[in-house]
Formats: sequence, structure tokens, C-alpha cells
Amino acid sequence: MNKELRKAVIAGNWKMNKTPDETKALIEAIKPLVAKADCDVVVCVPYIDLFAALEATKGSNIKVGAENCHWAEKGAFTGEVSAEMLKAIGVPYVIIGHSERRTYFGDTDETVAKRTRAAIDAGLTVILCVGEYLEQRQLGITMEVVRTQVKIALKDIKKEELDNIIIAYEPVWAIGTGLTATAEQANEVNKAIRELICELYGQDAADKMVVQYGGSMNAGNAAELLAQPDVDGGLIGGASLKAPDFAAIVEAASK
Ligand code: PEP
Repeated sequence: MNKELRKAVIAGNWKMNKTPDETKALIEAIKPLVAKADCDVVVCVPYIDLFAALEATKGSNIKVGAENCHWAEKGAFTGEVSAEMLKAIGVPYVIIGHSERRTYFGDTDETVAKRTRAAIDAGLTVILCVGEYLEQRQLGITMEVVRTQVKIALKDIKKEELDNIIIAYEPVWAIGTGLTATAEQANEVNKAIRELICELYGQDAADKMVVQYGGSMNAGNAAELLAQPDVDGGLIGGASLKAPDFAAIVEAASK
């Protein structure tokens, strides 16, 4: 495959962890450890921490992301934050469709598509999460599930907009459980996602598409996962909250 056409992206997903002061401290700890990274480094943090993260990452190679955004530009959506608002404060990345949003907060393939569209309209780069539940894997429908999620999420996205989309394959059974997909399982699904991008947009788009793996990636297993031909980085939950662990994954992606 054409892995050399893609730059790996290692993104931390801090979830509902860290206050603004703790954000500053963690970023200060990560910064020197990843300064020489030969991959893109992103930290996605709770809304309340975005200003602290933007301030602490100034002048560094670490980019900041949010963990979700609403599809409307503004309006009566109590508790929500729009893609335009993220753009206005200088946030370049946003995670959309994380399985915790889908499982606990009612996100559907349709709302994921709307959020994706809004984020692209606002000029953000989207980390689009897809992945199957354990029962779906056991039923042998992983590929159908993941293909459907990707197809619906991208239904309003034009080829020239794909440069601002990263797809993260995250088997739900591997998120926060300590269970990791084997390198072969991760690569098999990532490859299928790339083949779908080829079907939808052509080989050049597929060759350029960054497809991450996420699900209990850590300092110990990152090198093997990231060495797979279709794994172009990782979305990291638990291990992104510990500076040395996150840095070790960044280093593994830089080889
Ligand atoms: C995630 O939240 O996207 C994730 C992959 O979490 P963890 O690394 O903890 O499994």
C-alpha cells in the first residue's frame, strides 16, 4: 500500500478528565517528550479545557481538538457547542461519532453525518470514529457495520473535503477495556475502510486517507499496531492521560 503518502496522526482523547490547571500541567509534561515527533500530534480535551490547551500548546507541535460539536451554527440547543464556536476560538480538530457519544448520548449515523458536515463547513479537521460492538463482531457483521457508518457519515462530503477527514476505526469492545484488537484485526478493518473510500472517491483519495486505530492502544502494543500497512496512527484514550505513555506511542508512530 502507499503508506508513505500519509502522515500518521496520534490523537489523545482525554474524555471527561482534567481541569484547566491539570490540562496545562499535562501538556507541559507532554510537550518536550513529543517535540521531535515525525507524526501529527493532537490532544482532544473537554470544552472547559480548550482555552488552557490552546494557550499551553502555543509554539509547539501539538494541536488541539474538541471531543464533539453540534451541527447547528447557533440556536436553542442548551448545553451544546457548535463547530463555528470551536473555529472562532482557534480549535482545529474535533472528534465526531465516538462510541461513547453513540452509546450514551444518542448519536446516530445521521447526526454523525450532520456534525461532520458542520465541522467541515467550519473548516475543522474531523476525527470520525466508527466501530462495531462485540455482538456485531461475533455475528460476523463488522464490515457491514463499519462500512455503513462510514458511508452515512460521508454522504454529504465531497472528494476535495476529504483532506480534512481522518477516520478512526475503534472496535467498541476494545475501548477502555484493556482488550486490544490484534494487529491483523485492526489492519483488516482499516484496509476495508480504505477500500470503501476507493469505491466512493477513487484510489487517490483512498491512498491519502489517514485511517487510525483506537482501542486500548498503549506504549506496549503501539509499535505492532502502527507497523500495519493500513494503520496510520491512533486515537488514544487512557494512555493519553500519562505523558510518558502518550509520548511512547508518538515515538512508535514516528518510526
Ligand atoms: C478512545 O476513547 O477513543 C479510546 C481508544 O480509549 P482507550 O484508548 O482508553 O481504549
